[in-house]
Amino acid sequence: MTVDYIIVGLGLAGIAFAEELISHNKSFVVFEDSSQNSSLVAGGMYNPVVLKRFTPVWNAKEQLDLAIPFYKNLENRFKKTYNYKVDIYRIFKSVEEQNNWFTACDKILLQDYMIPKIVKNKNKYILAPYDSGRLIKTGRIDVNKLATDYRLSLKKENILKEEKFEYDKIDFQTDFVIYKNIKAKKIVFCEGFGLKENPFFNDLPMREAKGELITIHAPDLKVDYLIKSAIFVLPIGDDLYKVGATFNWTDKTKKPTEEAREELEFKLSSVINCNYKIVDHIAGIRPTIKDRRPLIGIHSKYKQLAILNGLGTRGVMIAPLMAKKLFQHIENGEEIEKEINIHRFD
Ligand SMILES: Cc1cc2nc3c(=O)[nH]c(=O)nc-3n(C[C@H](O)[C@H](O)[C@H](O)COP(=O)(O)OP(=O)(O)OC[C@H]3O[C@@H](n4cnc5c(N)ncnc54)[C@H](O)[C@@H]3O)c2cc1C
Repeated sequence: MTVDYIIVGLGLAGIAFAEELISHNKSFVVFEDSSQNSSLVAGGMYNPVVLKRFTPVWNAKEQLDLAIPFYKNLENRFKKTYNYKVDIYRIFKSVEEQNNWFTACDKILLQDYMIPKIVKNKNKYILAPYDSGRLIKTGRIDVNKLATDYRLSLKKENILKEEKFEYDKIDFQTDFVIYKNIKAKKIVFCEGFGLKENPFFNDLPMREAKGELITIHAPDLKVDYLIKSAIFVLPIGDDLYKVGATFNWTDKTKKPTEEAREELEFKLSSVINCNYKIVDHIAGIRPTIKDRRPLIGIHSKYKQLAILNGLGTRGVMIAPLMAKKLFQHIENGEEIEKEINIHRFD
């Protein structure tokens, strides 16, 4: 089998890169061994405002301009809905925060999203003595549904290998590689936290962060927007809400823990006061980098190897833009800015 590319990993990074290849008529095969699941468990929110400080997310406009049509295109292809518009209500902790909100609403990059009003809380089950500020044009991508459909479609085309990619089996030739019975010009690694096992790139400074989410059934709550306070409460339909997420920098397993559930329930008790039942609890590892920027580029010695990683806490927004930049770099030699280039750590 001869292909242009081998992709290792089919989370958001792998999907975004596969989409670049499809749009440029390049052939590829994907290896996916289900060792990581960050994309499958993600809340899937996209939002261009840092909700702690009311500042713009790094490069948000450029990312969103590409991401929204990217998901639309996939919705059209698979005839499914993945992008759910969800406003965000940021609960204020103080009068000072209310004032900060109004100041931020005047900023050029934020005024399209932040509404300069205080929204009075009328829901008796929400605890918001200082009321909330409302963000619009935000939403949730059902990444799990998208990734599942994507895997199925590649499987039907016989270009998904559901097995571990074995790094020591790469046979390097001058301008290509041979991996088992596949000849490819390039391999693009999109392994998320799996990067740690990749001998070609595991010197890059990943500071992965485990995250856990619970799903609750809360029939009295009746909310159709995301509530953001100490945690987020995200409606996903049928009176179900995703509640999250935790950050843990020491536990490297994908296993949900009692401690995280307790932490989430404790924080939830400061946000809502209605009855609920936990119906699900999931965990995954976010591929976060030391300086909180993505990682893209070509290996300095093995030119056939490239990487797309470091999507961190915001893979939904960042993945399509990073995939485009990496593709243009590999195929057309376009330069990658230092900020996101793997060689910033050389
Ligand atoms: C609890 C939680 C909540 C989150 N919420 C949000 C959110 O609301 N919005 C947002 O934008 N982001 C969110 N994120 C972050 C988001 O999930 C990540 O940014 C993104 O999914 C990372 O995608 P990825 O493709 O790089 O990694 P992954 O999704 O981990 O994909 C990597 C893939 O590579 C495969 N793989 C690895 N090694 C190998 C190998 N050797 N052979 C074969 N396959 C291999 C793995 O099985 C995996 O499928 C959240 C993350 C967590 C954990």
